[in-house]
Amino acid sequence: MNKKYIIFNWKMNFTVSESIEFSNNIIKSLANLKNKNIEIIVCPTFMSLPYCYQILSSIVKLGAQNISHTDHEYGSYTGEISAKMISDYAEYVILGHSERRIFLNEGNSIINTKRLFSIKNNIKPIVCIGESIDIRNSGKHIHFLENQIKECIDSDYEDKIVAYEPVWAIGSGENCDLGKVEEISKLTKSILGNDTLFIYGGSVNKDNIHSYLSSSSIDGVLIGSASLDKNSIEEMLNIIDANS
Ligand code: PEP
Repeated sequence: MNKKYIIFNWKMNFTVSESIEFSNNIIKSLANLKNKNIEIIVCPTFMSLPYCYQILSSIVKLGAQNISHTDHEYGSYTGEISAKMISDYAEYVILGHSERRIFLNEGNSIINTKRLFSIKNNIKPIVCIGESIDIRNSGKHIHFLENQIKECIDSDYEDKIVAYEPVWAIGSGENCDLGKVEEISKLTKSILGNDTLFIYGGSVNKDNIHSYLSSSSIDGVLIGSASLDKNSIEEMLNIIDANS
């Protein structure tokens, strides 16, 4: 079986001290994972990133949840954090999460710009795509997703990673059927090439993680809520080991 990726998106959760405590609490479960064909990527807040790096970087990779869209390492961009600034800690960055698209009006073009800046700073972009429930019900989701993929990734590069996260499946408990996810994997790889890593995210938990990871067309999962709970993490890792 190919290497599989498990991405924890902690979103705007955990203060620095809580992140330190949580990282120390999960380190044993992470270190005990026997399946060495799994890459775990933990994405805390910017504030916690250096601390989590100190604790976890010998066992897992670290990622950020965003970077500035300005192509400058430093400068007069109040409140922004450049790709250069996270590059000491983060090997990955999540870009274009639907929460940022919805709450901060981020569009495909800005996501593409951030993607280019992350690559320039040796950070691998994890580009999120996903349709709303209205678009899915209208039957126009394939066209919509095709457009997102082409506009967010308008040039070829190494280490392409796309996370398909249907908006209706995020945090809802309503995970997307395996067959529907596989259909989008096929679409993504037909546009970007078979070397693209295709990740699924949306209500992944201990009850469904195995089915996604056992599909040959899914290279990994992106997990929000279930990555904020020590027991869920332990249970998911145990399931992976029991089935490998
Ligand atoms: C996410 O944060 O991208 C996500 C998939 O969240 P959840 O696992 O809670 O649905």
